[in-house]
Amino acid sequence: MFRIALGIVLAVVGLSVSTIILLALIASPPPELSTTILIAIFCVLAPLVICTGGGVWFALRAYRAREQAQKMARQRELENALLALVNARGKISLGHSMAELKMSYEEGKAAIYGLVRAKRFPGYIDWDAQMLYSADAASLGDLNCPDCGGMRQIVGKGIVKCGHCGNQGFIATT
Ligand SMILES: [Zn+2]
Repeated sequence: MFRIALGIVLAVVGLSVSTIILLALIASPPPELSTTILIAIFCVLAPLVICTGGGVWFALRAYRAREQAQKMARQRELENALLALVNARGKISLGHSMAELKMSYEEGKAAIYGLVRAKRFPGYIDWDAQMLYSADAASLGDLNCPDCGGMRQIVGKGIVKCGHCGNQGFIATT
C-alpha cells in the first residue's frame, strides 16, 4: 500500500511541477528561443517523463505485487481449509467442498494441486468421481462390511458405517 501511494505521489509531483513551469513559460517566455526550449526539455518534459512515468510504473508494479500476494494468501487459506475438511470428513466430493469453502471450481482444483505438489494431501483423489479421500479412507482398502459383506461408507474421521446392516466401526488412524 505504501509503495502504491509513493508511486502516485511521485506521479502527481512530476505532473504538478511540469504544469507549473509550462504555465510560467507561456505566461512570460524568456527572450531567447533556445532558453525556452532548454527550460521546456529539462523542467517540463524531464519531470513528466521521470517523475510521472516512473511513479505510474512504480505504483502499477506495487499494485500487481500486492494482488499476487493476496492471491497467494487466499490459495494458502483454501488449501488449509480443504485439508482440514478432508481430514474431518474422511471423504468428500469436490462439489461439496467447493460449496462448503465457498470457492470456485478453479480455486478448488488449484488448492488440491497445491496440496498434492507440497505433498500435503492426506489421502487420494478420484478425479473421475470427483471425490477426495483422507488417509483413513485411502488406507481402508477393503470397504466390505465384516458382518454382511455390504459396502461400508466413511461417515466421519476414522468412522465407517455399513449401508446395509448399520454396522459401525473405526479405522486405525496413522
Ligand atoms: Zn453390514
